[in-house]
Amino acid sequence: MFHAYIVLTEQGACAGYGRSPEFDWAYINASSRADLAVITPPVPVAYAEAVAREVERRLSGPSLRRVQSGRACQAAVRSCRRMARSVLRALGSSGSAFLSASAIWRSSQFHPDMLRNRVPPRELVLESAQALGGRSLLYEEAMRALVSAGLSSLDRAQDLLAAMCVEGNASLVPAVSISPLGTRICNRCGSTGPFVLTPCAHCGRRACALCCECRQMGFARECVPLYLVGRGNLVHSHAEAAAERAELVMPHVLTAAQKQAADMLCDWYVDGSAREALVWAVCGAGKTEVSFGAMHLALLAGRKVLYAAPRRDVVAELAPRVRAAFPAASCSVFHGGSLGPRDFGADVILATTHQTMRFYRRFDLAILDEADAYPFAGSEALASSMDRALAPAGRLVIMTATPSRGHLARVDSGALPCMRIPARHHGTPLPVPEVAAAPEGDSLRALASLSRASVRSGSPLLVFVPRRRQAQEVASFLSARLPEARVEWVHSQDPARDEKRAAIAEQGCDVLVSTSVMERGVTVDGVDVIVCDADADDVFDYRALVQMAGRAGRTAACPTGRVWFLCNAENWHIRTAIGIIRKMNAEARTRGLLAQADDGAPPTSGRMQRDGGRHGR
Ligand SMILES: [Zn+2]
Ligand SMILES: [Zn+2]
Repeated sequence: MFHAYIVLTEQGACAGYGRSPEFDWAYINASSRADLAVITPPVPVAYAEAVAREVERRLSGPSLRRVQSGRACQAAVRSCRRMARSVLRALGSSGSAFLSASAIWRSSQFHPDMLRNRVPPRELVLESAQALGGRSLLYEEAMRALVSAGLSSLDRAQDLLAAMCVEGNASLVPAVSISPLGTRICNRCGSTGPFVLTPCAHCGRRACALCCECRQMGFARECVPLYLVGRGNLVHSHAEAAAERAELVMPHVLTAAQKQAADMLCDWYVDGSAREALVWAVCGAGKTEVSFGAMHLALLAGRKVLYAAPRRDVVAELAPRVRAAFPAASCSVFHGGSLGPRDFGADVILATTHQTMRFYRRFDLAILDEADAYPFAGSEALASSMDRALAPAGRLVIMTATPSRGHLARVDSGALPCMRIPARHHGTPLPVPEVAAAPEGDSLRALASLSRASVRSGSPLLVFVPRRRQAQEVASFLSARLPEARVEWVHSQDPARDEKRAAIAEQGCDVLVSTSVMERGVTVDGVDVIVCDADADDVFDYRALVQMAGRAGRTAACPTGRVWFLCNAENWHIRTAIGIIRKMNAEARTRGLLAQADDGAPPTSGRMQRDGGRHGR
C-alpha cells in the first residue's frame, strides 16, 4: 500500500507518493532540507497517484503557490488532507482508515545516522539502474531482477527501488492508473480497457481492477506499482565493445528488388529525418533479409536493435536466421514459450509484439515484421507498447505485405517513406485472382467445378472459407464430389492444425479447406487457391484476400498457380486486393524485376486508379 504526501522545501511545495514516506523524506534530506507531510492513509498505488496529481494541481494554484517549509505550512497540510479525503471518497475508498495529524517529518528531526541503516550507497543505486535499464517491470519482477543480478537481498530491494525513483533513474507509476476523467488506463500495455474487478491477494480488497489485455504477461493491477527504468548511459558506455560484435554475414545474395529496398532502407537510417519507414513486399518476396543492412549499421554504432513480430511461430522461425546473420552479436529471444535465460542486455532482441511491453525506451532501431498480422493489427495496446519500447529518438521499420489504409494514406501524402519489393525471388509475377460468380445459394456448385478442374490438373488446392463451421461442411461436400481426392479441413481451434499444414505442403492431402488461419506461413509447391464467399467483407478484407492469394506461386519450382475469388457480388475489398496485386506486378515489370514477360494484365495496369480505388477510402 502507498501514501500520498507533500514535500515542503524552501523553494515551495510539491506532491508525491511512495510506499514508505519516511524513507523518501530521509533520502531527500540527505541532499537538501525538506519537511514531508503524509496526506492519505495507506491506499492502492493508483489512488495515491490520483490524490497526488489532484493535490499537485491545487499546490500550483494561486492560493498555495507560496507555501514553504516551517510552521506556516500547517494550514496547507490541512487543506491538502481535506482534498485527499474528497478524492478518495469520490473514488469509492472509505476515508475512515487512521491517519494521525502528526504524520509530518520535519527537516529539523533529520540526522545522517538515520540513513546509515536503510539508504543504499549511491553507486549501488546507479549500478541497479544500469542493470534494469530500458525495462518496464511490475513490482515482483523488479524485486526478482535486483536479487538475481546480485545487487540486493529481497528485504532491501524495496528501498533500492525507492532510491532509484528519488534519484530520477526510474519512475514509479501504478500498473493501472485512474485518469483525470475517472477512466482507467494500463501503464504497461497502454490498454484503455476492458478491466475486470477481482478479489486481490496483493491489496486484500474484494474488487481490484486488473488489465485484461496483458494478463497473460503477469497481472497488472491498480494496487501494483510499475517501474519504468530509463536506459541512462547504458548504451554509450558499451558502444565500442558492441560495435566490434557487429559483423554481418548475409545468408544469400539479395535479388535486385531486395537489394534496392535494402539500400533505400540503409539510406533512410543514415539520413535520420523520418522516424518510420514502410517496407511493402509482396507475399513471398523475402522481407527479413532486407532489414539486415540497416540493423548492421545500427549495431556498428553500438545501438540496440529489436526485431518484433506478432506471432510466436514467426519469431521462433526467425531466430536462427538472425543469429546466423549476426554471428558475433548477442541475441536473445523473447516469446511466451521461449526456453533458456532471457538476456535483457543483448545487442539484438527478437520478441513477439506482446513481449515488447517488458521494455522501456530501450531500442534505437526496431523492425516490426508482419505488421498486418493478428494480434498486432488493430491492437492499440500492442502499438503503444511497441512505441514505448523505442528510445525517444528511436526509428521504426514496418514490414508488411498488406499495409493498412492508414499506412497507405501516409505513404500517399509523403509522410511515410515506403520501400516496395514488387517481385518475388523467382521473378515470376504474382498470380492475379480471377473473380468467379457464385450466385447466392448456389456457390457450392461453382466451387465443385473449379475444384474438380484444379484437382484433375494435379495441383494441390487450398480452399478458404469465412467461418469455422463451414470448414467441415465444405470439406465433406468436396470429398463426396471428388472421391479421388484426399480432402482435409482445419480451423484455428483445431489442435492438429500444424500437422495439416505440413500434410498439404508434403502432398499428404490434395485439398485443404481452411479458415483464414492458413492465410500466412503456408508454402505449398504449385498450389491453387479458391476463396469462397470472398465478398464476406466482415471476415475477408482486402488485406486477407491479398494474403490468401499470396499462397499461390511462391516456390521457384512452381512459380505459378491459379487463384479464384468466388463471390456473389464483387465488392470494394475484392477490387482493391486485385488492384494491389496488378499494381505490384506492373511496378515489377517497369523496374525490370521480372524474369518473364507477362502476367496477362495490360502493361499499364492501373485498376486501382480506374476503380477510383485510392487506398484511403
Ligand atoms: Zn495492460
Ligand atoms: Zn489489488
